[in-house]
Amino acid sequence: MIEDDAAARLTAVRAEIARAAALAGRKADDVTLIAVSKTQDAGAIAPLIAAGQRVFGENRVQEAEAKWPALKEAAAGIELHLVGQLQSNKADAAVALFDAIHSVDRTSLIGALGRAMDKADRRPDCFIQVNIGDEPQKGGCAIADLPSLLDEARAAELPVAGLMAVPPHGVDAAPYFALLAKIARDAGLERLSMGMSDDFATAVTLGATHVRVGTALFGARA
Ligand SMILES: *Cc1c(COP(=O)(O)O)cnc(C)c1O
Repeated sequence: MIEDDAAARLTAVRAEIARAAALAGRKADDVTLIAVSKTQDAGAIAPLIAAGQRVFGENRVQEAEAKWPALKEAAAGIELHLVGQLQSNKADAAVALFDAIHSVDRTSLIGALGRAMDKADRRPDCFIQVNIGDEPQKGGCAIADLPSLLDEARAAELPVAGLMAVPPHGVDAAPYFALLAKIARDAGLERLSMGMSDDFATAVTLGATHVRVGTALFGARA
């Protein structure tokens, strides 16, 4: 049954987080599991909610706006995180819907989010996304630009919680996770959004406070 599959996957992912946390002398409770439900419909998401999962991630504002208001009615305590790239013209909608935004990566977006938060009087946690592998096609700011972006984000009264990154595909992610952790430490930032289905345990051993897991919870995306 789909309910049993979802519950079993959730149990397995939670166990792996706990094992990795213990290995690093950390508490499993210090790691937030974000169930990345992009492309999944309500029928796939509901069993995870029933199994106790409350924190979910989406990568598109419009898709989240279509799916989540109804799902949020069905259960208390749902927390939504935006993990995908955000266009400035969707800042108002993102601020209204999400509890955290993981993809803050440029001056224009910081300005748009600051204005949207002022208008809505609502301040979702923000993660600055760093292009940790210096890949031209990827979102995230250059490592060298982080200090000035942090200054801008604070001036705009964005609540900056930490850093987020997506390491290059197909190579060992550990050195990139370690680098992101070092950059966050140097900047005095506590939270680290890193690790996906293939590498979340490694990310936890290297300090992730938020892991973004889709496939390992929902199965492969269509
Ligand atoms: C899709 C996505 C994930 C989840 O990826 P899986 O490999 O399915 O776990 C995590 N982070 C971001 C930014 C994503 O877009």
